[in-house]
Amino acid sequence: MAALAALLRESRRAVIFTGAGMSTESGIPDFRSPGGIWTKMMPVEFQDYVSDPGARRVSWQRRFEMEETWSKVAPNDGHRAVAQLVASGKVSHVITQNIDALHQAGGVADEQVIELHGNTRYAKCLDCGRRVEIADIRAHFEAHGDAPDCADCGGIVKTATISFGQPMPEGEMARAQAASLACDLMLVLGSSLAVFPAAGFPLLAKRNGARLAILNRDQTPHDRFADLVINAEIGPTLRAVIGIL
Ligand SMILES: [Zn+2]
Repeated sequence: MAALAALLRESRRAVIFTGAGMSTESGIPDFRSPGGIWTKMMPVEFQDYVSDPGARRVSWQRRFEMEETWSKVAPNDGHRAVAQLVASGKVSHVITQNIDALHQAGGVADEQVIELHGNTRYAKCLDCGRRVEIADIRAHFEAHGDAPDCADCGGIVKTATISFGQPMPEGEMARAQAASLACDLMLVLGSSLAVFPAAGFPLLAKRNGARLAILNRDQTPHDRFADLVINAEIGPTLRAVIGIL
């Protein structure tokens, strides 16, 4: 913890990169981990979602079933610590693989969060990008048995997440690349750095001369590149680090 505090003190512009481990402390399951949802239930691939109304119905039913979970989860100590580091001016951006919007709920401004895998709290038209609220889609689904098409352009509406097989969001990828190249410290929190291309950003920062610190419950395949690896819980560790900053 003293070593992480020292890295933060020496940094003038840090970036935080977060993965599923950040939110498991809020009670959100890690979908990809052993026992996670995607090991029990095949995810709906993007191509099927676009081409098959039945796949869209399955996907929406699953999303509605998750609504109770999503509505109950709240930011944890780790999210609050991250928000504190951003508010201090030390951290320029939070790049996240999570779709739960808990960084924003924890107090990080929208424009400082880069959501590589999107956001499950709302939906978007795949053609024109119009935002649609999940509750409105649910009401339509319950009345008509399927989700509505876009009211503006008739396009297919989908949760604002990036599904398996769906292209990565260009704007977010560009912002993540710029933030990674501009930082002098990349702090990875709760990511096993196994899902690419997202996991490439900490490695890009390191190759570009930034220091790399990884705080994760388990080892990652990229620990050998890191200046510091801490295998511990995020919330308590970050709180302690901020206490000695
Ligand atoms: Zn549209």
